[in-house]
Amino acid sequence: MKGRIFSGMQPSGKFHLGNYLGALENWVKLQNDYECFFSIVDLHALTSTYEDTGKLPEHIYNMALDWLSAGLDPEQNVIFVQSQVKEHAELHLLLSMITPLSWLERVPTYKDKLQQLGEQGKEINTYGFLGYPELMTADILLYKADTVPVGEDQVPHLELAREIVRRFNYLYSPQRLIFPEPMPYLSQAKVLPGIDGRKMSKSYGNEIPFAAGPDELRARVRLMVTDPQRIKRSDPGNPDVCTAYTFHKFYSAGQLERIAGDCRQANIGCVDCKKRLAENMVSALADIHQRRQNLEANPERVREILAYGAERARKVAAMTMEEVRAAMHLA
Ligand code: SF4
Repeated sequence: MKGRIFSGMQPSGKFHLGNYLGALENWVKLQNDYECFFSIVDLHALTSTYEDTGKLPEHIYNMALDWLSAGLDPEQNVIFVQSQVKEHAELHLLLSMITPLSWLERVPTYKDKLQQLGEQGKEINTYGFLGYPELMTADILLYKADTVPVGEDQVPHLELAREIVRRFNYLYSPQRLIFPEPMPYLSQAKVLPGIDGRKMSKSYGNEIPFAAGPDELRARVRLMVTDPQRIKRSDPGNPDVCTAYTFHKFYSAGQLERIAGDCRQANIGCVDCKKRLAENMVSALADIHQRRQNLEANPERVREILAYGAERARKVAAMTMEEVRAAMHLA
């Protein structure tokens, strides 16, 4: 029997190529080996951006486009919006009754993020923000997922989820464990820098949007920084300090040695080298762009897919909540 995965992403409107390589590309592979529940977690977005929700519908729609164009299959996987399955909120509430505050306060990312967002002027000292890992636990448990793809930084969240599972099972279902303890699926995340060499982030303005078509891709690659010591075309370059070359490592497999050699011997100029990179990227992302264009021509289809996913998720969630309510002696 296939294992079951739950994973989600916040609809922030900032999805870029780095996010794709860091997580979504991996999901596309996992869908063949696991039964997957993939959720656009809009309730999680509220934990840190609750003041301005006007753009959420647009962000949710765009995230669905991103996922589907990346190749997630809406039949093979359950793809849905978290807030369309109200059981997430219900289970979050019930789990919050049994979770000691200290468990939430000691999550390592909590204080760091609180400080970081506070410095950005966000009033984030809220119950919802503290309870973020609790909501994540509810997401996973509703579908009794046994596997959760996470990055190293999220391992403590999952450890908390496992502690909550143990406490719930101990208190309410010691004979017949209702929830499995979810295990992390750690994958080596690919890290793509921004076009200026720093971490790729929309707030730095150095991102390559995942939705970028061929023309925008070429334009972004033209702006990429190269070896700063290479001033003239005749200067030998150093690919090891060149952001464009880092991108070549992702998109120019089989040509790397030649590109590095041409660079070091000044056989190629940076303009031409980046043109080559841009064309490699356009061709690597061609299927994704084609799928996006097809979906954009039929927005109703995207909404139908999300409605269908929510219906399937609700069925599973409702069954879980029946068990939970019975175990807790709720009506
Ligand atoms: Fe970078 Fe290519 Fe220029 Fe070398 S030739 S510095 S690898 S862009």
